Amino acid sequence: MALEINVRQLENAAIALEGDLEAAALDLDTRDDLVRVSGQLRYRVTVERLGESLVIQGRLDLSLQCTCVRCLRAFDRTLTFEDWVCHIPLEGEDRAMINHDVVDLTPYVREDILLALPQHPLCESGCCGLPSAPRTEAPQSGLGLSGDRGMSVWADLDKLNF
Ligand SMILES: [Zn+2]
Repeated sequence: MALEINVRQLENAAIALEGDLEAAALDLDTRDDLVRVSGQLRYRVTVERLGESLVIQGRLDLSLQCTCVRCLRAFDRTLTFEDWVCHIPLEGEDRAMINHDVVDLTPYVREDILLALPQHPLCESGCCGLPSAPRTEAPQSGLGLSGDRGMSVWADLDKLNF
């Protein structure tokens, strides 16, 4: 089901839209392997016409499949806009495309979703990374080596003093 509105129907009253939109219809290019859109966008919005613009208000829910940037664990997250508000001008430079009285609302939803996608998804806020990754001991063993060499240098100096 497309997320669109016929502006003629808005001349007298606001219109409620409710339904699901396939993720493919959103055509979201997340440009990120860590965040993928899964399932459908659920929307429950009202659209009204105020002067020369449309005002959409309502709720959006979108399921995401994320990969934690620290531990690489896959997890699901729902992106929710509790009180989504969008103004769509019908006049001027940024006016919406109106095709046979119908305005496609999908690009406006897409834009706000792209802005809200997590940049660095974490499975939980305190994720400590890979639990099996051993702490690296490299700096300490390096110090130990130079220490040994230092000792042998002093030992050589002692021999020279004799
Ligand atoms: Zn994690």
